[in-house]
Amino acid sequence: MLSDTIAAISTAVGEAGIAVIRVSGPESIAEVEKIFHSKTKLTEASTHTVHYGHILDPEGGERVEEVLVTVMRAPRSFTTEDVVEISTHGGVISVKRVMDLLLQQDIRLAEPGEFTKRAFLNGRIDLSQAEAVIDLIRSKSDRAFSVALKQVEGALSDQIMQLRHVLVETMAHIEVNIDYPEHDVESLTADFIKEKSTEVMQGIARLLKTAEQGKILREGITTAIVGRPNVGKSSLLNALAHTNRAIVTDIPGTTRDVIEEFVTINNIPLKLLDTAGIRETMDVVEKIGVERSKHAVTEADLILLVLNGSEPLHEDELELMEQIRGRQSIVIMNKMDLPPQLDREILSRYYAEDLIVPMSVKTQEGIDALEAAISQLFFSGSIESGDLTYVSNVRHIALLKKANKSLQDAYDAAEQFIPIDMIQIDVRLAWEQLGEIIGDTASDTLLDQIFSQFCLGK
Ligand code: GDP
Ligand code: ZN
Repeated sequence: MLSDTIAAISTAVGEAGIAVIRVSGPESIAEVEKIFHSKTKLTEASTHTVHYGHILDPEGGERVEEVLVTVMRAPRSFTTEDVVEISTHGGVISVKRVMDLLLQQDIRLAEPGEFTKRAFLNGRIDLSQAEAVIDLIRSKSDRAFSVALKQVEGALSDQIMQLRHVLVETMAHIEVNIDYPEHDVESLTADFIKEKSTEVMQGIARLLKTAEQGKILREGITTAIVGRPNVGKSSLLNALAHTNRAIVTDIPGTTRDVIEEFVTINNIPLKLLDTAGIRETMDVVEKIGVERSKHAVTEADLILLVLNGSEPLHEDELELMEQIRGRQSIVIMNKMDLPPQLDREILSRYYAEDLIVPMSVKTQEGIDALEAAISQLFFSGSIESGDLTYVSNVRHIALLKKANKSLQDAYDAAEQFIPIDMIQIDVRLAWEQLGEIIGDTASDTLLDQIFSQFCLGK
């Protein structure tokens, strides 16, 4: 199956300056040569060289496109196979014409993610690195991008391999002592197992600690902007989106729908939800909106409660503060450009001082303070630059937890002097579970499931 040659458009389809078609497989150079005319023969070209020329229709010799062709010979390519990349003019028609001609040769259309899958199957990258390629494509903030990049380079794999190395040593040690089961050796082995499983469990705990931050970096902090009608929720959303916009998600619907907007604040991605004013209502349309906002509040990691600073506190707002008590929340006293009427004292009963932010969306005053409060709340300076090995993939998290459980079982068994060969089974299980993260012990179904998430041409 790996011996055939595949091709796909690797750039986003649509109007653009150029588009790149990637061809990979043992016949890629010879097959492209059949439809390419240039001064040099591709089959004689050295690796990592670029060639100017034309794509010709082999039927009538008609010039189809003017292109640049890059040759990368095995094993120094992304897939470790011979790879040819054809840069054509952007635009649907020209790319399609070149693709059609390629597929008339001994080349088939690649499945989504098949290039990355080949890189994995040929041993160039491991599974956690392949998954990070998906993250890289989808990352929504600079930091999420850096984390994914680090993972592509193998930072997580390195740590997993170190932990597995400790387990291999432990297994070897146990193996030797199974052959010499004198009593004192047995008890020494039990101590050794306890020591080593503790060491690996600590390593797993360190990785799991980064998981929460990893999730935030990938998906953003779900942030609900709540408050009574007209306090300035939508204005705040717009102001934050305007200065920090990363990706806009347009959720169609009426103005009473929840609106989603993706922004990054000091490199922290937030998924902002503007909710319809939370209050009891008889209006059916508004009721739907209100239901959604209540849902949004339950789902949210962070709640921004907006109040009108130029009015006294309303009883609905007091109720709301009771409701969200104990949640991660910041209260905004908006419209401070108007004469103040809101009693800060009452707010102090519910919020710490640095989580009460006086602001005017209208004059932009206080926006900086709000942004500072948000970063303070989430990272309190705890992200060290350079330390970017975040575990953020749910599959990895689940496997780390399983491996931890197996090691705990081994530890407990060692404590109770259960026969060493029984304990060996748990240690081995942990070793396998960690191996599944990097794809050492992964099944075909799992591989198919992972690679099908890729877009075509990657
Ligand atoms: P929402 O119903 O909570 O989403 O409130 P809007 O964002 O639609 O704002 C309601 C009204 O308040 C609009 O007319 C805004 O221009 C106005 N508004 C919002 N923020 C401020 C502010 O800081 N100062 C003043 N004076 N008006 C504001
Ligand atoms: Zn609004």
